[in-house]
Amino acid sequence: MRAAVVRALGEPLVIEERPDPEPGPGQVRIRVEASGLCHTDIHAARGDWPVRPNPPFVPGHEGVGLVEALGDGVTHLTVGQRVAVPWLGSACGRCEHCLSGWETLCERQVNTGYGCDGGHAEKMLARADFAQPVPDGINPMEAAPLTCAGVTTYKALKVAGVRPAQLVAISGIGGLGHLAVQYAKIAGATVAAVDVTDDKLALAAELGADLVIDARREDPGEVLRRHGGAHAALALAVNEAAFRAVNSGLRRGGKLVMVALPAHGTIQVPIFDTVLGGTSVIGSIVGTRQDLAEVFQLHAAGRTKVVYETRPLASVNECVDEVLRGQVKARIVFDLGTES
Ligand code: NAD
Ligand code: ZN
Ligand code: ZN
Repeated sequence: MRAAVVRALGEPLVIEERPDPEPGPGQVRIRVEASGLCHTDIHAARGDWPVRPNPPFVPGHEGVGLVEALGDGVTHLTVGQRVAVPWLGSACGRCEHCLSGWETLCERQVNTGYGCDGGHAEKMLARADFAQPVPDGINPMEAAPLTCAGVTTYKALKVAGVRPAQLVAISGIGGLGHLAVQYAKIAGATVAAVDVTDDKLALAAELGADLVIDARREDPGEVLRRHGGAHAALALAVNEAAFRAVNSGLRRGGKLVMVALPAHGTIQVPIFDTVLGGTSVIGSIVGTRQDLAEVFQLHAAGRTKVVYETRPLASVNECVDEVLRGQVKARIVFDLGTES
């Protein structure tokens, strides 16, 4: 089977021929049909973050495919069933976080495409308990971006406690942002979308954003304040200035939800404004298996639209460049089903 492999951090990926992996106890082997390219894969391949992955590894945590082989003890999945393999590859199931519905905070979690091989390959292994069944009727190409971009933004809005009649700012209308706009609309919010390219701003408007803010021309903080300030802002752009801009656009009591992970990212939060304004800064990391089940449920009910372009796995390095240049309409999905 072919896989896109990070052999050294900061180097282009290499397409390698590898033997099919054998599922161990509790694992399944999946014939991958679709694998979404998340900006996180680029951070992983570059070693952008304090906890670095160990090459060689196969990135990808939006892998969707058909179960092909069951390891010992797997009884709840069947061969031929379609599953999605998210970032949360496994968690311990016993710690305070796992037991209180916060498995995404488990200190013993293993992350797909980071701590173990991921979905940018024709075959992959997954922990059966964390491989999420994809409901019938969802196209695998659409299921892929939902598996990280979808669940992450759905969860971030839950964390912000967004309610109808609130103003929500979505900063960065890429893979994550184009779904965030839709979940915020489903929650009943008035949505302000912020980006720096004409195409992304047009896409946000198409997807229902009530207000689009071009951060090249206007200060998003100022525009948001002119509208009374945001009750919540999701920081999804890989840019520190964009975090500061939306933080300054919060209304009193507003919440900044940090989601994007720029390399060595820090922002200064003004103490006086934060105290007097009673604002919060919250980090949000992906979502639980239950969150992903809800994301799939919404999509199966026709309530979300996934915007994607398909590409062959062999073009992985060109695809990375396109994401970095901001030229992708929303998400690139590697089409492995028709290639193999
Ligand atoms: P992406 O590249 O598809 O989207 C980023 C968007 O930000 C693009 O549309 C770009 O035009 C826009 N942008 C760039 N500069 C901007 C600025 N100054 N103001 C407003 N918009 C700007 O990336 P993505 O796949 O959506 O991922 C976004 C980030 O989220 C990455 O850092 C990724 O690692 C991170 N991420 C975090 C989690 C989590 O659980 N916290 C999960 C998935 C991804
Ligand atoms: Zn991701
Ligand atoms: Zn745990």
